[in-house]
Amino acid sequence: MADYDFDLLVIGAGSGGVRAARVAAELGARVAVIESGKVGGTCVNAGCVPKKLLVYAAEFARAFADAPGYGYAHVTPAFDWPRLIAHKDREIARLNQVYERALQTAGVALLRGYARFEDEHTVSIGARRVSGRFILLAVGSAPRKSDIPGGELAITSDEVFSLARLPERVTLVGAGYIGLEFAGMFRALGAVTQLVHHRDQILSHFDHDVREHMAGVLRKQGMDVRCGVEVRRIERARAGQGLIAELSDGSSVLSDLVLFAIGRAPRTAGIGLPEIGIELDDDGAVRVDEYGRSSIEHVFAVGDCNGGTTLTPIAIAEGQAVARTMFGPAPVPIEHRNVPTAVFSLPAIAHVGMTEEEAREGGRELDVYRSQFTPLKHALSGRDEQCLVKLVVDRRTQRVLGCHMVGADAPEIIQGLAIAVHMGATKADFDRTLGLHPTAAEEFVTLRRAVR
Ligand SMILES: Cc1cc2nc3c(=O)[nH]c(=O)nc-3n(C[C@H](O)[C@H](O)[C@H](O)COP(=O)(O)OP(=O)(O)OC[C@H]3O[C@@H](n4cnc5c(N)ncnc54)[C@H](O)[C@@H]3O)c2cc1C
Repeated sequence: MADYDFDLLVIGAGSGGVRAARVAAELGARVAVIESGKVGGTCVNAGCVPKKLLVYAAEFARAFADAPGYGYAHVTPAFDWPRLIAHKDREIARLNQVYERALQTAGVALLRGYARFEDEHTVSIGARRVSGRFILLAVGSAPRKSDIPGGELAITSDEVFSLARLPERVTLVGAGYIGLEFAGMFRALGAVTQLVHHRDQILSHFDHDVREHMAGVLRKQGMDVRCGVEVRRIERARAGQGLIAELSDGSSVLSDLVLFAIGRAPRTAGIGLPEIGIELDDDGAVRVDEYGRSSIEHVFAVGDCNGGTTLTPIAIAEGQAVARTMFGPAPVPIEHRNVPTAVFSLPAIAHVGMTEEEAREGGRELDVYRSQFTPLKHALSGRDEQCLVKLVVDRRTQRVLGCHMVGADAPEIIQGLAIAVHMGATKADFDRTLGLHPTAAEEFVTLRRAVR
């Protein structure tokens, strides 16, 4: 057998790469991870973690606004964006260290620099060359940029986390989960917020009741939600008073910041993949089989770069599976069923399992249960914001196929329900479960009459 520097070379120390490296090392492999940026990848540095910290900051603003109903005097607290960003940076730096230590403890070598393929088993990092018996692509994805005139005046999610000041007026382009999270955060922190979406409804791929409900909630919050329009051009307003985004319906919006959240593209360009025969799809994602294996037997791809669902737990699960396939006793197929998903908007959205539309595909008959109600907290806060809970049930088997929620703590609640859905719980199981009172979550076990 040929002699390689490492049993496994991992390109990318993000969620998928780090997990794969650690599991492979535990299984006895000699592993190196190559990273051009900060250890921890998108989730830690420019995704889940910093995003959630900013959303927490925005939740305080909502709590201050709700407090007078609970007997507190009206206050307009002084808010310091640079201070928030500095505290967030400190926490991210701590997490970078935690990740680095975890690699070190596992005996994984960390090689700093940008990796490019030289041949099927060799990668260059600047002038250095390293070889691996297996190579794992865990290079993640990057925000898509707009190529409209003036598109360079806009930012993407990557830059939000280091903005020098909180903008007074923000235009979010794209109402997917990332767009909605930043829109909610900026709105709660006091910015005039406009949401521009090219489809006729926000949040494609979510349940239609959730999409409608949430659009209504955002409009009630005073957000300008414009669907079915695109941004055609961006230019500076006269006298430097912000940016004007011209829309396809002939209207325009003025703001201090335009943020494109129009999706992400796999970071697979420029590293020599087609040159060594690795097949990519039309979006540039690495084509993989059910084991995460690319068109080259010993090169695998996990996480955002393989065109699957772009979520941290997916990248982690795939990293673990491919490491076991390479170095464990038997190949482990990658399978994702009932993936719980959250949008950390304000209020939050979460679901597990099928949307009503997905469940109806193939003519399946359904019982749909839904409740819209004012959460107890808002009885005194006076906030005009309703919760939505919804169950999608297979009429024949009575299995719960999907649980959906819009409301405070929805992600925490849906994580628990995901276990039940995963285990194949029926509506009768939900009905037999005692409620935990008084909570919003108890609605899930007290839904008695199908609405459809
Ligand atoms: C704003 C935002 C919010 C998000 N929120 C959530 C959330 O709430 N929940 C959730 O589950 N997911 C969320 N995600 C998605 C999640 O962050 C990603 O799905 C996850 O990080 C993907 O992990 P990965 O290992 O595939 O790639 P990444 O974590 O992106 O890691 C890839 C790494 O590879 C490195 N790299 C790339 N090319 C090279 C090269 N040639 N040489 C060396 N190194 C290289 C990069 O620097 C990077 O560190 C969010 C993403 C964004 C952008």
